[in-house]
Amino acid sequence: MINRRSEKEARITKRSLTIFLVALLIFALVNLLELSDLFPSNEAANIHTRGQYVEVHFIDVGQGDSIYIKTPAQDILIDGGDRGSAALDYLLSQNVKDLELVIGTHPHADHIGGLIEVLETIPVREVMDPGVVHTSKTFEDYLVLIDEKDIDFTAARAGMKRTFEDGTVLEILSPDSPSEDDLNNASIVARLTYGKVSFLFTGDAEIPSENAMLDAMSPLRSTILKAGHHGSSTSTVDAFLEAVSPEAVVIMCGADNSYGHPHREVLEKLEDADIKVFRTDIHGTIIVSTDGKSYGISYDKSVEPN
Ligand SMILES: [Zn+2]
Repeated sequence: MINRRSEKEARITKRSLTIFLVALLIFALVNLLELSDLFPSNEAANIHTRGQYVEVHFIDVGQGDSIYIKTPAQDILIDGGDRGSAALDYLLSQNVKDLELVIGTHPHADHIGGLIEVLETIPVREVMDPGVVHTSKTFEDYLVLIDEKDIDFTAARAGMKRTFEDGTVLEILSPDSPSEDDLNNASIVARLTYGKVSFLFTGDAEIPSENAMLDAMSPLRSTILKAGHHGSSTSTVDAFLEAVSPEAVVIMCGADNSYGHPHREVLEKLEDADIKVFRTDIHGTIIVSTDGKSYGISYDKSVEPN
């Protein structure tokens, strides 16, 4: 009798467990569906084989910038994060065999450091940077590699524009006259357009650079803005944000970084303007995928954007 009862109890427990698991599965499925409603193209990385898509991968490299751009015909890298192999590992995981263009926005280590392993490993056709010198070992190693590998070099200047056969257009909006005494404001600011969708990549450009672009009536308006200087309050001045008028902003920074990036003022400004914010420290690697008409945003970690 006692035995039978415990058997029955065991059966009931087993049944409750099954019900619980089924409920959990349904809950997970519903959540998954809701997420894909929110982001129509919410897909895992590397789902688009090369086709009529542009993908912009804001790679989570901790405190630093690294952005991989896959267009219908080209592979482009903007910055490589700090020294180490985070950017290289990501590119290899995406089966990148060579890079048509590498942009080093400015000579600080959290932008060009990781380019060293990339340049050592992946064939690169052209490197573009502001053409200002910096006296760090990292910058020296980077220059030596460009020279050794005989890679084409271009000093970027505001007003340069390249129209590619695959339908993408790359415009350089800054710097105009960069100074090695102000490396953040020497940052290359580049705008990539594919059909109706555009991206503004700002490196660590700060308010003086933003004001110069406003004064020059640069074509700033963009669908997606990578906030300047890791979301620091020294960037993203009101008039600049208004001119760009982005639908979404990406902030690239490391979790609990010592600079306090992103700064509260910038986050509040974006919230007030009702702009969706995606952060590499919270969302991990963020991928924007577009066919030139609409776009979708996906990311590693299951955290709702603000
Ligand atoms: Zn930086």
